[in-house]
Amino acid sequence: MTKRSGRGYESGERHHAWKAVPGYRAIHYWVERQLGKAAEHTCEQEDETCSGRMEWANISREYHRDVDDWLVLCHAHHKRRDMAEREALGIPVNYPAHRKSRVAA
Ligand SMILES: [Zn+2]
Repeated sequence: MTKRSGRGYESGERHHAWKAVPGYRAIHYWVERQLGKAAEHTCEQEDETCSGRMEWANISREYHRDVDDWLVLCHAHHKRRDMAEREALGIPVNYPAHRKSRVAA
């Protein structure tokens, strides 16, 4: 079952699969349609530790279709934020190594 949107989104499908959040990919495209590519923005926490590409990060973790529920973080800040949240929630930070390397690429 291949549904073509005509905008080439399918090519990036596997790169986002690691999040394993239902609808994660779809909601990210929704955000891009509303606010543009993350790459067109600067990191919300911009400082000397920024690195990697810009990414849309969800604020509530509930992935609302609400532009106020999203912010742009560079990959480094995004990852740090995820780690901090996991720690706060008591979720072990245990990205499998193969996934870690893929994300860092
Ligand atoms: Zn940053």
